Amino acid sequence: MHGNGDEARNARRLPSVDAVLRTSAGQALAERFGRPATVDAIRAVMAAARESAKGDMTPDDAASGAEQRLERAQAPRLKPVFNLTGTVLHTNLGRALLAEEAIEAATDAMRHAVALEFDVENGGRGERDDIVRGLLCELTGAEDATVVNNNAAAVLLVLNTLAEGRGAIVSRGELIEIGGAFRMPEIMQRAGAKLVEVGTTNRTHKRDYANAIDGETGLMLKVHTSNYRIEGFTAEVPARELAELARANGIPLVDDLGSGTLVDLALFGLPHEPTVAEAVAAGADIVTFSGDKLLGGPQAGFIVGRKDLIEKINRNPMKRALRVDKIRLAAIEATLRLYRDPDRLAERLPTVRLLARRARDIEASARRIVSRVAGLIGPDYSVEVVDCASQVGSGAVPLETMPSAGLSLRPADGSTGGELDRLAAKLRGLPVPVIGRIANGALLLDLRCLEEEDEFLNNLKRSCVIPEPSIEGRS
Ligand SMILES: *Cc1c(COP(=O)(O)O)cnc(C)c1O
Repeated sequence: MHGNGDEARNARRLPSVDAVLRTSAGQALAERFGRPATVDAIRAVMAAARESAKGDMTPDDAASGAEQRLERAQAPRLKPVFNLTGTVLHTNLGRALLAEEAIEAATDAMRHAVALEFDVENGGRGERDDIVRGLLCELTGAEDATVVNNNAAAVLLVLNTLAEGRGAIVSRGELIEIGGAFRMPEIMQRAGAKLVEVGTTNRTHKRDYANAIDGETGLMLKVHTSNYRIEGFTAEVPARELAELARANGIPLVDDLGSGTLVDLALFGLPHEPTVAEAVAAGADIVTFSGDKLLGGPQAGFIVGRKDLIEKINRNPMKRALRVDKIRLAAIEATLRLYRDPDRLAERLPTVRLLARRARDIEASARRIVSRVAGLIGPDYSVEVVDCASQVGSGAVPLETMPSAGLSLRPADGSTGGELDRLAAKLRGLPVPVIGRIANGALLLDLRCLEEEDEFLNNLKRSCVIPEPSIEGRS
């Protein structure tokens, strides 16, 4: 090809890998990142240089290019971000933030040997579920409890244990899909249960359930329609009535609460969401709920209810594949313990604290930082304090919003579209990415979840020094 001569000439202007490694910068890199990774990075710098038509490259240039590559590769992918989306339990941003007590317990469990399946009193074998069983029973009023990887796993395990090869009766109004991969009919199929749909999308009556019960019925399932609501001409059967029907027919009623909460959120000025204790008291034989939604703990799925059924569930070999590790168990235990003192919950549990923040306090925060944010963002954008609405997220109380406040950023020249996207990308490119949402021609930063104003401002200060994300290696 006619470019070969140029390439060859370019190649001659590049230092050898060894020459780069011999520079003091190169040696420092090899010490810091290891020799193989450093060699790879230097080779990558050379390859990029050969592609471009740039001139000479000294060994020091190459070392500095390699350093940038190595640092980028070293940066964690799972990096902290500022969640200013206004969605407190954002599934894509990791849902609940853990309480300090839970973080400490998890860290201890990581660092030390722990009595995970060991009975310290008698020196014999213990059961890992025992660590949280007592607390779960105390807080929910259930007879027995167990814990698995997440609520999807809880539902799968319950269906498989109680309804494999048998029918699971569920209302057509409750055949939900949560975030794409979790669709109730598909989970049922994977669990080996036969889906028996009853009623219609908007109305399901007690007689619909009653008519569907036969010798093949494994269980009746009630599902909290977490992320949507059917309004207008609707009817659903209260859990208490379903429980009566189930008991009369000798089949278990399973209530998948989804988010589930252990306290009445109305205490914190939030809309009432059914509590686990209420579902247990209503007569459900099994109740399932998540650990990292309203409960505010780590990812987990809780199964509470009748002792004989929980024992059966624990004997299912699938349980072993779905169990949680010591780190999460430690965090779960510490989180549940906080619920013993509801008066201090809002102070200690971040999820409740953030949900309960009052709009006027959030607005005060916005007023404190607005002029400094405007100064840091520069004259190309106007920044103002605005009212907005936050949501709980993760399918809890889907239609209710909470009054909040934030900063609205828009291009000073009135342009929208591309310019806004560029601003959003710039904020995402910060050392700690700032995630807002674009609405009404502006980038909105809802400050409900911003508790560290100084860290936020310091991070923003670095917006002028960060390289544009598109520039590769050394320029
Ligand atoms: C969220 C949810 C699930 C899934 O729970 P994960 O903890 O996310 O696995 C299942 N059922 C309902 C009703 C839910 O809201």
